[in-house]
Amino acid sequence: MTLALGCIADDYTGASDLANTLTRAGLRTVQTIGVPSDDLALPEVDAVVVSLKSRSIEAGLAVTRSRAAEKWLRGRGAQHILFKICSTFDSTDAGNIGPVMDALRADSGDAIVLVTPAFPETGRTVYQGNLFVGSVPLNESPLKDHPLNPMHDSNLVRVLVRQSETKVGLVDLATLTRGADAVRARLAELAMGGIGAAIADAVFDRDLETIGQVALDHPLSVGASGIGLGLARTLVASGKVRPDAVTAMPDTAVGGPAACLAGSCSQATLQQIASAERVMPVLHLVPERIVAGKEEAQRALAWAREHLGNGPVLIASSSSPEEVAALQSRHGRDTAGHAIEQAMADIAEGLVGAGVRRLVVAGGETSGAVVDRLQIPGFLVSAEIAAGVPVLRAVGVKTGEMLLALKSGNFGAREFFSDALKLMR
Ligand code: ADP
Repeated sequence: MTLALGCIADDYTGASDLANTLTRAGLRTVQTIGVPSDDLALPEVDAVVVSLKSRSIEAGLAVTRSRAAEKWLRGRGAQHILFKICSTFDSTDAGNIGPVMDALRADSGDAIVLVTPAFPETGRTVYQGNLFVGSVPLNESPLKDHPLNPMHDSNLVRVLVRQSETKVGLVDLATLTRGADAVRARLAELAMGGIGAAIADAVFDRDLETIGQVALDHPLSVGASGIGLGLARTLVASGKVRPDAVTAMPDTAVGGPAACLAGSCSQATLQQIASAERVMPVLHLVPERIVAGKEEAQRALAWAREHLGNGPVLIASSSSPEEVAALQSRHGRDTAGHAIEQAMADIAEGLVGAGVRRLVVAGGETSGAVVDRLQIPGFLVSAEIAAGVPVLRAVGVKTGEMLLALKSGNFGAREFFSDALKLMR
């Protein structure tokens, strides 16, 4: 297998977002959880997105893990590697975007790397090096209060300088508008001046396409799903990727029992559970009992085994904001959240043991706990159920074929659970 594109993502949901974007743009894409083992059998694909959890860990560790991912991807023939970061440039002066970029650039031997978190379809644009979230600069957006990576400076040239060992320049919108050759000339000029990274402005998808064209001349780029879009469109347009490859992907039915798990307490998920009550049996877990011990998960599994033969079931821990606050005040937010995540992972493991091969999970953290517990090495990204939520076909799972849908709390329409199951055959 020779990969057209290798990606290293600094968190799981960002990796899914990128994998979904690449698939929609026509690349057959696998998302792996962590750096895969060497014997992982992958189908024929164009892109692999290695998901790490390296956004907010110690910078040295983020570098080591990213380098391991880079080595694996280059070993699979990836000519170009995208280091996927958050579209709001989540980082601190200690890293981890700068240190990882510096290390990967040093490994690639290239003089300069293009960097842009722009993703116009989600309202992230960059102008004169300043990142906008919708209509406001980054430092006036809710990101200014982020618990781990508060962003107090919207000027990404300055932000990156503080966390990188190289000098940082700008490819401005005027240059981008003049096309790929103008960008190439600007990069050459910056590199001549000893500048090792360039923030690229981008306001429209066409800017990302120009950036994608130029980035592919280089071994490395840094950015969010937007630059992924630019890279993917360039690969398809240049014929390096077959335009009909995604639709020609094997789509064999997996069959077997189906189940849904909801650990998200978001408004959208609560409504989706209410809708599901009309079409499938729903078990509402008692959160207090989950925190008290393992019996609640066992009760859920016994209940599921009784119903699975008749069709899909839904098991939910989700409750109203008032009930969540009450539970958290009794046990602490982390203890309550962790206990429920682990109970959901116990239930998922039990369901798969009971034959479930199609599993829908609502909640970002909940999905992470489930995927880790089921030891799923990776996913082939398939049809999109709702914006940003694709059907995932597990690869390399010891228990055989499996389909999953992992939904961040707020995503999806009211009928999400039935919508997902309709596509997961
Ligand atoms: P979302 O994508 O909506 O943020 P997550 O799964 O990421 O959903 O986060 C939901 C968190 O709330 C998890 O830690 C989960 O264990 C926890 N949780 C689930 N149900 C309850 C509940 N009834 N009370 C308190 N916390 C809960």
